[in-house]
Amino acid sequence: RAKEQGRNNVQFYHSNLNYRSIERLNLEGELRMALHQNQFELYYQPQMDIRGGDIVGMEALIRWRHPERGMVSPGTFIPLAEETGFIVEIGEWVIREACRQNRQWQENGFPKIPVSVNLSVRQFLQQNLKQKVANILKETGLEPQYLALEITESMTLDVDYATNCLIELKSLGLLINMDDFGTGYSSLSYLKKFPINKLKIDRSFVRDLMEDPSDAAIVSTIISMAHHMKLKVIAEGVETIEQLDYLNANHCNEVQGFYFSPPLPADEFVEKVKAITESAAM
Ligand code: C2E
Ligand code: MG
Ligand code: MG
Ligand code: MG
Repeated sequence: RAKEQGRNNVQFYHSNLNYRSIERLNLEGELRMALHQNQFELYYQPQMDIRGGDIVGMEALIRWRHPERGMVSPGTFIPLAEETGFIVEIGEWVIREACRQNRQWQENGFPKIPVSVNLSVRQFLQQNLKQKVANILKETGLEPQYLALEITESMTLDVDYATNCLIELKSLGLLINMDDFGTGYSSLSYLKKFPINKLKIDRSFVRDLMEDPSDAAIVSTIISMAHHMKLKVIAEGVETIEQLDYLNANHCNEVQGFYFSPPLPADEFVEKVKAITESAAM
């Protein structure tokens, strides 16, 4: 019996694997066409000043509106796009679209705030990234201080390369955020060498803040360390008033999360900004 069961398990495992590799090939092909068929879209999530409650920034997050599959989450296709190298083209589209949209909003009288864009490892390793970003800024007319690029610790493993690359990018006048901070292996001594503006505390620490004392300690430590290094801190994944209060009491500068708003399509984001700005003015 056990043997039989074992065999069944193996068969199940194989067919599952098979299914997954076919599925993967399909996705890969579809990903290639998605850009040309305009299936990508950017959603925007507000970033709030923790004290004043104003919107001080926004993060652009990619969505794939697949004709049959519906919305495919970036967690599914970004890693695949990263593996195939296709992320470079997608990523360039993301930067251009975010800059274009931000510039258009500013022309329509919206608050002038930076838009954050996630960079992928492959993009970061591109020799001509600086030139590409410079061209996009020129093309769209967005002033550089209204663009922030988000990198992760994994991109900074080669410290010299990362330092040079960041210095080059920053010379354009844009901002650099360290995303998902605390989940990677970056050394604190290097952190101060990188010309970054802001640390984003990873959502995994914020999630259990109220239940897990060590997460609470990690969060308050990251905040005070960042402030010693003259960096601003934003917490991601803030969902409750209790988390917000803790972050406020520990002098976190900014917050982003479902407590204020999920990421929204551009038109809904505009409505959200209006609603928040009006309630802040009252
Ligand atoms: P990230 O850059 O850390 O983005 C934050 C993620 O947390 C987003 O997931 C956002 O929807 C989610 N989030 C924000 N607030 C909350 C909250 O209060 N609760 C919960 N449960 N989640 C919250 P999303 O949009 O699915 O993106 C996932 C990841 O995919 C991003 O993590 C980023 O690493 C990557 N990604 C998204 N867009 C792009 C892109 O344009 N380019 C690249 N290279 N990566 C992207
Ligand atoms: Mg991010
Ligand atoms: Mg993040
Ligand atoms: Mg994250």
